[in-house]
Amino acid sequence: SQRKVLVAGGAGYIGSHTAKLLHSNDIEPIVFDNLVTGHRSSVRWGPFVHGDILDTSGLTRTLMQYKPDAVVHFAASAYVGESVEDPAKYYRNNVIGTVSLLDACRQAKIDKIIFSSSCATYGTPQALPITETTAQQPINPYGRTKLIAEQVLRDYATAYDLKYVALRYFNACGADPDGELGEWHEPETHLIPRALLAASAAISHLGIFGDDYDTEDGTCVRDYIHVTDLARAHVLALEHLINGGPNLAVNLGTGRGLSIGEILKAIARVTGRQVPVDINPRRAGDPPALYADPALARETLGFSPEYSDIDTIIRTAAPFFGLESRA
Ligand code: UDP
Repeated sequence: SQRKVLVAGGAGYIGSHTAKLLHSNDIEPIVFDNLVTGHRSSVRWGPFVHGDILDTSGLTRTLMQYKPDAVVHFAASAYVGESVEDPAKYYRNNVIGTVSLLDACRQAKIDKIIFSSSCATYGTPQALPITETTAQQPINPYGRTKLIAEQVLRDYATAYDLKYVALRYFNACGADPDGELGEWHEPETHLIPRALLAASAAISHLGIFGDDYDTEDGTCVRDYIHVTDLARAHVLALEHLINGGPNLAVNLGTGRGLSIGEILKAIARVTGRQVPVDINPRRAGDPPALYADPALARETLGFSPEYSDIDTIIRTAAPFFGLESRA
């Protein structure tokens, strides 16, 4: 019979792109989402169940009803700044929510889970690129909740025979190349969408958080990876678990770091628009440079990015901001 996957948080940015790709790989995505940050209109490739992962019995009922082969767990709060202001929300949704989801999986006898982790679990690394053995020393509550959830997964795997892949995303960006889904956060805090909003004059300018870092052009360096590449890594992780592969925690990045200056140049190159900028003070908790060593994801999952060159990222994201791309 057809494979099925429960996608917790499947109405959100990365979750909805993953649901679409699962469907195109002949796997039915059952989206379970509380729609606090997700969008009902982004659920288009399978059934939708409106619910909260903190409701363990509701989630258990859904799992018993659909009997999925695995769970992909995206449901979380994901604003670093907000996690500093309101850590209770983050520990509840991200830590207690993950425990609740894992307990529902145990009750429904679902033993495979793919978890959305983050490069925020590494904090400010001692050395670059970041490998999976780089010490995980998060510098904000968001990163701590993701690290704790990874540790919960590991302990549950040992005790209850759960199989998991934890995917440590670097900077997710871009949009569905078919134009069916985009990046749609409220409020929008992420660099590339804000830069495109400024390029289209929807906001007056992009505020750059510091230009006096010890980097090539003084702005922060990040590893920007296309959301469709992230989505494909979930399909590969699912195949890995179904084929009996071992538990894993892997980085999902390109191995290349780009400064904010390089992003703005790419926007000018691809859209023909200059991004008006202002230099603001540094944002608290921003490490100067982060980029992944992508070798383990390649070796264990056969993953390598296809859409993550910066021009493709900008070209796929631009239409959602009313911007055209040059050929
Ligand atoms: N950034 C910026 N202005 C903005 C949003 C982000 O200068 O309006 C910077 C931010 O300080 C960081 C990089 O862009 O160095 C990427 O930030 P984002 O919030 O997109 O992702 P993060 O790296 O925090 O996960």
